Amino acid sequence: MTSLTYRYVALTDTGLRRPANQDSGYASPRLLVMADGMGGAAAGDIASAEALHIIRQLDRDLDVDAMSALQQAVTAANARLGELIRSDPAVEGMGTTVEAMLWDGSKLAYAHLGDSRTYRLRDGVLEQISTDHTFVQSLVDEGKISRDEARVHPHRSLLLRALLGRDDNEADYNWLQPMLGDRYLLCSDGLSDMVGDNIIEMALSAETIDLAATELIRLALEAGGYDNVTVVIAEFVEKGTDPDEHLSSADGQPQLVGAAAGPARPRTAAVTNPKTTESQAIDPEEIRYAPRPPSRRRWLRWTALGVVLAVILGVAGAVAYNWSQNQYFVASYQGKVTIFKGVQADIPGVTLQHVDEVTDVELSTLPDFRRKQVRDGIEASSRAEAEQIVDNLDQVAIKPTPTPTPTATETATATATVFRR
Ligand code: CA
Repeated sequence: MTSLTYRYVALTDTGLRRPANQDSGYASPRLLVMADGMGGAAAGDIASAEALHIIRQLDRDLDVDAMSALQQAVTAANARLGELIRSDPAVEGMGTTVEAMLWDGSKLAYAHLGDSRTYRLRDGVLEQISTDHTFVQSLVDEGKISRDEARVHPHRSLLLRALLGRDDNEADYNWLQPMLGDRYLLCSDGLSDMVGDNIIEMALSAETIDLAATELIRLALEAGGYDNVTVVIAEFVEKGTDPDEHLSSADGQPQLVGAAAGPARPRTAAVTNPKTTESQAIDPEEIRYAPRPPSRRRWLRWTALGVVLAVILGVAGAVAYNWSQNQYFVASYQGKVTIFKGVQADIPGVTLQHVDEVTDVELSTLPDFRRKQVRDGIEASSRAEAEQIVDNLDQVAIKPTPTPTPTATETATATATVFRR
């Protein structure tokens, strides 16, 4: 039998309607992962990024067979989400789908959980390998609706299973036996909801997998780009084949994309302010960080306000100042999460805040949303509350190379808990 290896590519796009990318994707010579995060505006990116960071540890240590290692990694990722949810009620309800494949040199250990999909293109024919863990799929299975009807069903986003940090949502595990020339596609529903299987089949047949990836993303955007869209593709070739230097995987380096890769594409103003047209779109991050020349009128206004406040302060004097000095807030200082004493106010000539403690939590290790919150400042009514906020942030910080600590596989049967994404 021919010994096989594979070429790979991972690509993502925020899409045209979502403010941020909650998908995460990863491809390396041994591992392929795709995770589509969910759970309110804030936590989906945390969920997919955290799960992916745990699962990609499989690229480092492997002292058991590929299937056991994969099961342990998914279980560890689930435990991590559970931990985060317990430590920060704000992210309650977050979760992620998981598509993961671990190559042992001759076959693939495969995990599937949720409604992200895996397709296989063999001899020009596309086949969906995964079965969606969705309510509409259960209707398809019962013969109540067709696959085409499922794709446009109003309740198509109701998931029956996902990685939620609980012990009642098991993934499906299977061994897959690739053949020479096979292409495997792992994708988020941002592709499969927007683009039909026959079109996916055609695009996935492109000359190279890199071209296929860009074409699939383009098709999803052209169809409306309603959701984040992520594709991870592997193509099986004979072992020892010279790497095609035109392919992105020719360098053998892992590819990490989406929420897990850090800052997503800038949020569009169209989402923040629906009245803003596309042509007027201003990146709110830019507003916050780009230095702007002070306008004369603004300067006058601040001066007037300053005078008024000076009078007020003069009258209220020590009372107001003392009050302000019993307040705290958490913000950033020199790239670190920092506890400030005082209140956040920009009043010329009046200092109502000072650094109380610079913690060792690096701002850069926080998931996008948390980092943004810290930059905006998080108010606390006491020193203890500020410390609690820092603890919570520390919990969600992405630690360098955490060693997965798999727990015993929970064997609870999956109950059909329906929740909306
Ligand atoms: Ca999605």
